[in-house]
Amino acid sequence: MTTRRAFLAEAAGAVAGLAFVGCDLLKARPAAAQAARRMVSVAGRRVKTIDVHAHAAVPEAMALMSPPASPPGLLPKLLMGAPQERLALMDAQGIDVQALSINPYWYKADREVATRICEIQNEKLAQICAANPERFVAFATVALQHPDLAAAQLEEGVKKYNLRGAAIGGSVNGEEISDPKFQPFWAKAEQLGVLVFIHPQGTAELNATTRFKGNGGLDNVIGNPLETTLALSHLIFEGTLDRFPAIKICAAHGGGFLPSYAGRSDAGCVVVPARCGVPLKKRPSEYLRQLYYDSIVFTPEALRHLAAETGPGQIVMGTDYPYPWTSTSVNHILDTPGFSDAERTAMLGDTAAKLLRI
Ligand SMILES: [Zn+2]
Repeated sequence: MTTRRAFLAEAAGAVAGLAFVGCDLLKARPAAAQAARRMVSVAGRRVKTIDVHAHAAVPEAMALMSPPASPPGLLPKLLMGAPQERLALMDAQGIDVQALSINPYWYKADREVATRICEIQNEKLAQICAANPERFVAFATVALQHPDLAAAQLEEGVKKYNLRGAAIGGSVNGEEISDPKFQPFWAKAEQLGVLVFIHPQGTAELNATTRFKGNGGLDNVIGNPLETTLALSHLIFEGTLDRFPAIKICAAHGGGFLPSYAGRSDAGCVVVPARCGVPLKKRPSEYLRQLYYDSIVFTPEALRHLAAETGPGQIVMGTDYPYPWTSTSVNHILDTPGFSDAERTAMLGDTAAKLLRI
C-alpha cells in the first residue's frame, strides 16, 4: 500500500525527473524538435489535428483523497509540470493539439474534498493550457457525485478557466449517468453548449465476480467498452437525450460496443415493448447520430463501420495518451479506405475544433 508520504515523494521525484529531462530537451530543442514535428495534410491542405482522448494527472489533487488515489503506472507521463516529453511525442505522431482530461478517481469524496480536488485540477489544467495555447486545451474536472456542484464547477471551468467542456466517468459510484439526479449537470452542459467527454471507469460490479478473471485483461478490454455501451444505452433509453437534445457528448473508444450492434437495441423495443417504459422520440439507433466518438477502434473496418452507423462527422481522433493502445491514430484515419478528403479532415481535427472552440 502506498502511504501518502511515499506517494508524494514518488510524485515529487517524477516531477523532478521530468523537469530534468525537460531542461535537457529544451537545450537541444530548436533544430531537433522542429525537424521531428510531423505536419499532417490532406489533399495538400494542412490540417490542425486534435486528439480528444489524452490523459493527464495532478498529483497534489490525488493526494487529497483518503487513502490517496494510487498513481497509475504511467504517472510520470501524465504529469503536466514539464510537458516536453509529451510535446515531443505529439510532434512525432503529428498531433497538433491535445484536449487533456483527468480520469475521475474522486467520485467517493465528500463535497468539501471533491470541491478542492477539482479546483486544484482545473486551475492546473488552465495553467498548462495558457502556457501552451497552441498545443493544449482541457476538459474541466467535476464532482459528478454532487450534481449541483458539478454544474457549478463546469460553469466556472468554462468561464473562469477557459476549459472546453467536462470529462466524466461512464457511471458514478454504481449509479447511471442517466439518473434524474444528474440532470442539473446535463442542463448546465446543454446551456453552455460544451462537450462532455465520457471515459469508462470499468465495471466494478463484474470485477467483483469471476466473469472477468483469467487471462486477457478482460476487465479492461471488455469491461471498459461495456461500461460505455451501458452508459450510452441508458442515456438513450431513459430519455436523457430527449430531455436534453442539444447536449454534446463524446464517448471514448468508439462508443464501446454500442455502434457495433445497434440493431439489437432497435429490435428490443419491438420484440419486448413492455420493457421500454419511456416513449422515445426516435428509434434508439438514431440517437447514435447525435453523439460523437473517438477513433480508437483499431482497424480500418471498425472505423468504416463506426462511420456507417454514426456518420463520419461524428468521429474525432483519439490516442489514449500515454497508454500505448495506438501510436498511429493519424495514419488510422488517413489510411482507412473509403472516406472523402473532407471526411478525413473532419475526423483529424475540424470537427473537434468546432466542438472544443479551437
Ligand atoms: Zn483513456
